[in-house]
Amino acid sequence: MDKRTNLNLSGRKHARVIIVGAGPAGIGAAVALARKGIRPVVLIDRASNVGGIPALCKKKPGAVPTFVSWLHGRALVGEQFVAGLEARLAETDVEVWLDSLVVEIHAAERRVTVASRAKGKLDISADAVALACGSRERSVAERGWLTGSRPARVFFTKHLFDFIDGNDILPMRRSIIVGSDLVAYSAAAKLSVSGAGQSIVLDRRRRPECNVFQRLYFNFWSRPKWHGSIQEVQVKGLGSVEGVKISDKKVLTCDSIVVSGNLIPNTELALLGGLEVRLPSRLLEIGPGNRLSSPGWFAAGNIRGGFHSAQWCYLSGKKVARSVLKYLA
Ligand SMILES: Cc1cc2nc3c(=O)[nH]c(=O)nc-3n(C[C@H](O)[C@H](O)[C@H](O)COP(=O)(O)OP(=O)(O)OC[C@H]3O[C@@H](n4cnc5c(N)ncnc54)[C@H](O)[C@@H]3O)c2cc1C
Repeated sequence: MDKRTNLNLSGRKHARVIIVGAGPAGIGAAVALARKGIRPVVLIDRASNVGGIPALCKKKPGAVPTFVSWLHGRALVGEQFVAGLEARLAETDVEVWLDSLVVEIHAAERRVTVASRAKGKLDISADAVALACGSRERSVAERGWLTGSRPARVFFTKHLFDFIDGNDILPMRRSIIVGSDLVAYSAAAKLSVSGAGQSIVLDRRRRPECNVFQRLYFNFWSRPKWHGSIQEVQVKGLGSVEGVKISDKKVLTCDSIVVSGNLIPNTELALLGGLEVRLPSRLLEIGPGNRLSSPGWFAAGNIRGGFHSAQWCYLSGKKVARSVLKYLA
């Protein structure tokens, strides 16, 4: 798909609606708006392809899927889910700007500054702007309950997937997974299938964040041991991880820690650009009708906070499109 516009580098352009982020939420919003006759809708993403996180989760043949979406009784892996999004997008005249990083937003003017690989730096304004920039895993320090030394072999799930799926490397044999969302259970399954021992999943929550149905799915490959209601994880080991202390009496031995979940919304642009963002949670201030603090600004998908499924984010985009339509009317 190549629907990039031929913008003059320095020329500012105006769109009816700009959507920042072409993940499930951004595509949901863009498709819904275009179907209602809104144009031009400009969908901007820093990546070279649309799809957001699901597009990064291609299934390796024979491997445990990193991404699964259960739709109409079928389990779709990352590329299948993205193919569905692309097909819906292709039926519209949404302008998709790829390799285009939004570096600044200007709330009062409903304007964004884009650094585009092909076109350099340019500004574009709109009657309405929807932010659909997603979220990211909180750093170890930001979590606050992972204390102790910082030896080698503390990974994030992204690193684990890069090792196992991207490079056929298994740098651990006995892992403790901190966090209990869907991604944590997918990581445990990947480790088990790759030849590591059974992992341990632990979290501050009483019950795993991953729901029973999703856990049953990953049980096919592994049944990690669960430790809930953990108040503090003290990392042990100097050169490399040797274990974690989870209470006065209990130390679990391991050779690595995989950190999962605990997402933080990507709201820095909003904060710096003049939209109200709550601190320290960094959640956007969202009012009735999905409106942000400045007129004409909206937010869809994971940027609204929490860990949601890709389908939830797509539907969130559609819902926000209805709010944008009301605003434009
Ligand atoms: C490892 C992993 C596995 C997952 N597995 C599953 C699963 O199995 N099933 C499931 O349903 N969900 C899964 N999820 C969750 C799901 O992928 C997300 O909830 C969903 O993709 C969020 O959609 P979104 O559109 O809000 O954000 P994203 O998918 O994160 O998309 C945001 C987009 O915004 C772009 N962007 C961000 N900032 C800028 C900027 N400044 N300028 C331009 N573009 C920008 C990004 O490039 C990205 O394309 C998983 C998540 C992760 C991290």
